[in-house]
Amino acid sequence: MGVHGMTGVQEAPAQESLGAYEIAVQQFDAVVERLQLDPGIAAILRQPKRELSVNFPVKMDDGSLHVFTGYRVQHNMIRGPAKGGIRYGPNVTLDEVRALAMWMTWKCAVVGIPFGGAKGGVCCDPKALSLRELENLTRRYISEISLVIGPEIDIPAPDMNTNPQVMAWVMDTYSMQKGYSIPACVTGKPVSIGGSEGRLEATGRGIMAMARKACQHTGLPLTGARVAVQGFGNVGSVAARALQQAGATIVGLSDMDGAIYNERGIDIDAASAAAKEHGSLVAYRQAQRLGNAELLTCACDVLVPAAVENQITASNADRIQARIVVEGANGPTTPSADSILRRRGVLIVPDILANAGGVTVSYFEWVQDLQSFFWTEEEINARLFNIMERAFDSVLALSLREGVDLRTAAYMQAVSKVAEGYIVRGIYP
Ligand code: NAD
Repeated sequence: MGVHGMTGVQEAPAQESLGAYEIAVQQFDAVVERLQLDPGIAAILRQPKRELSVNFPVKMDDGSLHVFTGYRVQHNMIRGPAKGGIRYGPNVTLDEVRALAMWMTWKCAVVGIPFGGAKGGVCCDPKALSLRELENLTRRYISEISLVIGPEIDIPAPDMNTNPQVMAWVMDTYSMQKGYSIPACVTGKPVSIGGSEGRLEATGRGIMAMARKACQHTGLPLTGARVAVQGFGNVGSVAARALQQAGATIVGLSDMDGAIYNERGIDIDAASAAAKEHGSLVAYRQAQRLGNAELLTCACDVLVPAAVENQITASNADRIQARIVVEGANGPTTPSADSILRRRGVLIVPDILANAGGVTVSYFEWVQDLQSFFWTEEEINARLFNIMERAFDSVLALSLREGVDLRTAAYMQAVSKVAEGYIVRGIYP
C-alpha cells in the first residue's frame, strides 16, 4: 500500500501535464493489456476513424468577418452511427475533441446503445457573441461539417455552451440543405420540433440513479447523504435537484464564479432563482461562500464534478472528503488522482457510465424521430433508469469478478463490446 501510494504521488507531475487525448489513450491502453486484446484491433481503436477541421467565416454584427475554427471527430462507428455533442468554448482544441469522441465510443458501448462515438466543437467565446452571431456561427459550422453528419452517419447533440436552441438551428440548417425536415439528424432539440421529453434532464437524472446505486453498494443511505456538486449548468443543476428529490442534502454547489456551502442544505429552487437573476449562484445568500477549488474538498459524502475536465488532480485528491465520486463531467479526474482516490478507498462511478443518461435519451430521441412516434416522459424515465441501472450492475459485477475498480471494469465492458464488432464483422475488404 505504502509503496503504491508513493508511486502514485511521485508519478503525478508527469501525468498531470498530459493532454485529454493522451489521458484517454492511457486509459484505453491499460484495458488492452487486461483484456489481451488483439493488437490489430487495439491499433484501430487507439485512434479516431475520421477527423474534420474547418475554418469558416462568420459575418459579425458590426459587418466584419471573423474566421472561426471548428472540428468534428468520429472515433468509431462499428456499432452504429457516431454520436456526440457539440461544444463551444474559447479553449476548444482538436486534442480535447478527440478525447471526448473516444469517450463517447466507450460510453455508448458501456450502456449498450447502438452508436459509435463522435464529438464536435468550435473555438469561440460564446459569451462575447450576440444571439444572431451565435446562430450564424452554428449554421455555418453545421454547413461545413454536413459532409460527415446525418441520421445514419453521425448525430450531434448539445454539450458545453450549446442548448436546445442551438440544436434547432442545427436541425434547420441540415434540413434546408437536403430540402426537407430531418429531425433525426440531431438530438437535444426542443420538443416542438421532434425533441424528446426528458432529454434536457436526462444526464442529471442518470447521475442521480448512479449515485443511488453507488450508495446502495457502499451501504451509505442516500437519504440524508451530504452531496456537493461542481458546476451548475445543465448537468449539475438537474443532478442536484434530482438528488435533493431523492432525499440527499445538497451541501455544496459551484459555478465559474465561486462556490456556496451550507451543511444544513441548500434549497435548489432558491439557488437556481439566484443564478438566473444574478448570473451566478454565488448570489444565494443562505450559505457560506467558498473558493472554487474548495468545493471539491468540502465536507460531503458524495461529490459530483459536473463542470469541466481535469478538476480532481494529484494536488487535491488526497484532500477529497467524499466517499463516493460520481463523474458528471467528462474526464474530471486525472489518472494520477484516480489512483490516489482508489488507494484511499473512494468509490468512483466513472464518467462513461455516470453521465451516459444524456446519450441514452438522445438515442430514444433518434428512435422516436425515425418512427415519428413519441413516448411519454414516464416511459422515457423508466427506460432510462432501466438501461443505466443494468449497466451499473454489470460493471459492478465485472469489477468484483476481476478485482478491479469501476472505471477499469466499465472500460473492459465497453472495449470488448466494440472489439466484438470487428471480430464478428471482419475487416473490409
Ligand atoms: P453547461 O455549460 O450547461 O454548464 C457548465 C457549468 O460548469 C456552468 O455552471 C459553469 O459555470 C460551470 N463551470 C465551468 N468551469 C467551472 C469551474 N472551473 N468550477 C466550477 N464550475 C465551473 O455544461 P453541461 O452541459 O452541464 O456539461 C457539464 C459537463 O458534463 C461537461 O464535461 C460535459 O461534457 C458533460 N456532459 C454533458 C452532457 C449533457 O447532456 N449536457 C452529457 C454528458 C456529459
